[in-house]
Amino acid sequence: MIHVVGGGVAGLAAAYRLQQRGHEVQVLEAGGDLGGLAASYETAGDPLEKYYHHLSKSEETIVELAEELGVAERLQWRIGKNAYYVDGVVHPLDTLPQIAAYPHMSLYDKFRLGMLTKGVDFRGGVPKFDSYESLEDYEQVPIKQFLLEHTTRGVYENFFEPLLDAKFGSRKDDVSAAWLLGRVKFRGERHPLKGEYLGYFDGGFAPFVDALVSAVGRENVTTGARVVGVDTDDGAVSSVTVDTDSETETHDTEAVVVAAMPNVLEALVGYECDIDFQGAVCAVATMDRQLTDTYWLNVAHDAPFGALIEHTNFVPPERYGGQHLLYVASYVQSEEEWLWQADDAEVEEAWLDHVAEMFPRFDRSWVSAFRVARNPRAAPVYERGYLDMVVPYDLGDEVGEGVYYAGMASRAQYPERSLNGAVVAGYEVADRIDATR
Ligand SMILES: Cc1cc2nc3c(=O)[nH]c(=O)nc-3n(C[C@H](O)[C@H](O)[C@H](O)COP(=O)(O)OP(=O)(O)OC[C@H]3O[C@@H](n4cnc5c(N)ncnc54)[C@H](O)[C@@H]3O)c2cc1C
Repeated sequence: MIHVVGGGVAGLAAAYRLQQRGHEVQVLEAGGDLGGLAASYETAGDPLEKYYHHLSKSEETIVELAEELGVAERLQWRIGKNAYYVDGVVHPLDTLPQIAAYPHMSLYDKFRLGMLTKGVDFRGGVPKFDSYESLEDYEQVPIKQFLLEHTTRGVYENFFEPLLDAKFGSRKDDVSAAWLLGRVKFRGERHPLKGEYLGYFDGGFAPFVDALVSAVGRENVTTGARVVGVDTDDGAVSSVTVDTDSETETHDTEAVVVAAMPNVLEALVGYECDIDFQGAVCAVATMDRQLTDTYWLNVAHDAPFGALIEHTNFVPPERYGGQHLLYVASYVQSEEEWLWQADDAEVEEAWLDHVAEMFPRFDRSWVSAFRVARNPRAAPVYERGYLDMVVPYDLGDEVGEGVYYAGMASRAQYPERSLNGAVVAGYEVADRIDATR
């Protein structure tokens, strides 16, 4: 029997692929629900992810898996409008005419930004087309230094800096240029006049997770089962110890896949990973009307949140019983921060007060519910030297034969952690196990 620690998408994908290759697998999930960070709330209609989720057209493995699971016809590619909020004005920034009209960058800034997004190095006025092919070359380069050298100060200050503030807060200067270039490449197909296509399942990601659980077999997945120990014997894994509500059990095992955060890996087998993670606080406001017509609104000022993501400008409110759903979200760099310490009512008050400041016509009476989700390890900080810190899939040399890792600190979750990355990590591990058994 192979044991998988964690019933998120990575653990479920690993189990699915292992079973396809003829292995017996048991998934052990500490919580009561499956899907991990992709778990959902109920609404007046379809379920909604606790943390905003969509797919990019560049992500193929999860689409292939959806096809195998019979849910690919549910996958819809919709345009989600992006905009920047600056000084009281929402500036749409999806199409060339919109970018041309954006008043906070010069024409030359826009040209240099355009060159970068096309992968063209325009330093010295001579276009070079192969400078950004090897991301490893930029792994040690600070992002600000890179942008000032490869674009302009205007591009850095008026375009990227607010995004970096929202994404990495006080850690933004630690992030590598390789991450930025990876993200630029990671962007998917765009409609020239509308914007980027983003993927979302009809009914949300819950039907995808459910289909994956069904394929693995509910009898092969145990919820409420926290793995508290992994033992090795003579250099090879021998057993897992699991806490449930009623008892602590130890099971013999032939291999263990840890598909959870690296702190869980460290607690179970002592492997230390140096990657820093940031937390997230993510609220969903249920409203009786629309706030903006934008899906993803970046906020280019010192707001108490990083972005406003109006889900029902992406998927119509009719799918949610006519309600309008707005994510208000922020990353958290330290557990000492006010936001992490604040209770849900305090978060609601501070955030909705600020929404009212930004949009004077907004009224608190629009909001009938405000649900807050928090996770202390929501995303890695992609700092310089990151690739040297990723956890290997096969920990045979480091820990013991038969110990594997498919969690968020794995190579597949770079340059951006994603559900697709979780599936790839699960598959990478399953293929390695299959090759040796
Ligand atoms: C705010 C936010 C926005 C995101 N947006 C997107 C997006 O738009 N598109 C996208 O593709 N991805 C997005 N993601 C990322 C995506 O959710 C993750 O990459 C993916 O869900 C990670 O899956 P995982 O299985 O590796 O980890 P997790 O989902 O964290 O699953 C790990 C599981 O392990 C369990 N576990 C932990 N310890 C134990 C233990 N000792 N024993 C048993 N079980 C244990 C946990 O309970 C959890 O269920 C977003 C994430 C966040 C937080």
